[in-house]
Amino acid sequence: MLRALRLVWLLMRRMAVRLWLLFFIGVAMHGGLRTWHWTYLAGMAALAGCYVSGASLNDIDDEAIDRINLPDATDRPLVSGEATRSEMAALAAISAAVALVAAAAFGPAGVGLIAIGLVIGVTYSTAPLRLARRTFAAPAILAAGYVLLSYGLGAVAAGRGFGRGDVAAAALFLVYVGRINLKDFRDRAGDAAYGRRPALLRFGRSATCVASAVLLLMGDGLLVWAIHPAVVIIVLVQLYVVAVAITLLRLFEAANGRSEQAAIALGARMGDGLLLLILADLVMAGLGASDGETALLGLAIAGGSALTFVSGLNEQPELVVEDLYKAAVLDHSRDPRNNHPLPNASFSSSRSNPYCGDQVTVHVRIEDGALEEVAFEGQGCSISQASASMMTEAVDGLMVADAARLAERFSRVMSGEMEPGEAHIGALVALGGVAKHPARVKCAVLPWDVLRSTFTDAGSPSADPVLNTDPR
Ligand code: ZN
Repeated sequence: MLRALRLVWLLMRRMAVRLWLLFFIGVAMHGGLRTWHWTYLAGMAALAGCYVSGASLNDIDDEAIDRINLPDATDRPLVSGEATRSEMAALAAISAAVALVAAAAFGPAGVGLIAIGLVIGVTYSTAPLRLARRTFAAPAILAAGYVLLSYGLGAVAAGRGFGRGDVAAAALFLVYVGRINLKDFRDRAGDAAYGRRPALLRFGRSATCVASAVLLLMGDGLLVWAIHPAVVIIVLVQLYVVAVAITLLRLFEAANGRSEQAAIALGARMGDGLLLLILADLVMAGLGASDGETALLGLAIAGGSALTFVSGLNEQPELVVEDLYKAAVLDHSRDPRNNHPLPNASFSSSRSNPYCGDQVTVHVRIEDGALEEVAFEGQGCSISQASASMMTEAVDGLMVADAARLAERFSRVMSGEMEPGEAHIGALVALGGVAKHPARVKCAVLPWDVLRSTFTDAGSPSADPVLNTDPR
């Protein structure tokens, strides 16, 4: 039970608060926030359930891609090994049921909206439609699910008809399409490995940033027109737009994945601040506050965002092993080296890692104690296959005893006993990042274990890694 709650929390943390803000903006736009209704809690539960359901299905669909894009993600239970695929499927079903029950508080309209949200969640991540894999449909349908549904449920909860003000939902929708468009920056390594063609990979970096900027400006204009807030609030909204535009420029100029992610995260935080500002403005207007009072609250919120913005801009994200690691895994899993049978092999050995479903067969041709040729065959996760590919390159031409020593040092790095930098493992250092993810260590070490068992078969006493640890 506790673990299930933790899973729900891990998934919700990604998005639920934003959905709630959008929900309350919908409520406030329809005059519903003058007083608190307990049914609003049902609305929050319905949206959270709907989101968790869709996110669970998407995690299942994206497992392989996430393993490349987010190898150290603590909020991807399948990547971190915290949950199995069937548990995630059960979570999707249960949270969908919770969402529908909660939505019943708002009658057929509420149930209908949440049902649409659940259908989006299913069609986004599962065959035959799998909208997540479509260049233009993916951001639009996701933004619709986030913004229009949350806002719409808020409107239904407040119980009033739609009007001009609801153009605000369209405005926020445009901004979110622009935001989701940027998700590709984080995901492109995995997307490329699995043949996805999001806008970033199709049209390039500048076109993607420009598209998001245009959507932002369109959304800005529509939003101001729809809610026509006090002048101070209009000015503050423009400051947020400028801040987001600056993060887009940073993204465009970013030199590495870390800087890209820092820019996107900062832009997202500014977007959250903007939502909060709009909600505050609507609530104050609903309460009949004066422009001065609204301005005071708006300035307080914007001040908080300004501090975040300044410290975010000054943060210098460093290039770390992680980027090296992603690049290596991507490169080798896309284009595995020495991945073929070896008819004249001296020894072959196979092993599998039931935990992850990896399977690796290693063939070696040994002549005069040296590895004349090494090849592998196998299937499984990208880390196991990339590690096998890198291994064949690393041990090619080595004496068996030296290869065994290398295998030993590599395992020590993986188990955290040795720092990657001091282990003299050459290009394998790129896999050093795996050591931080205990669940993935078995995947990376598997090919090396198989290699060592071919040495055992070869009966070479010098192959015993215990007798041949590196002299220090
Ligand atoms: Zn694996």
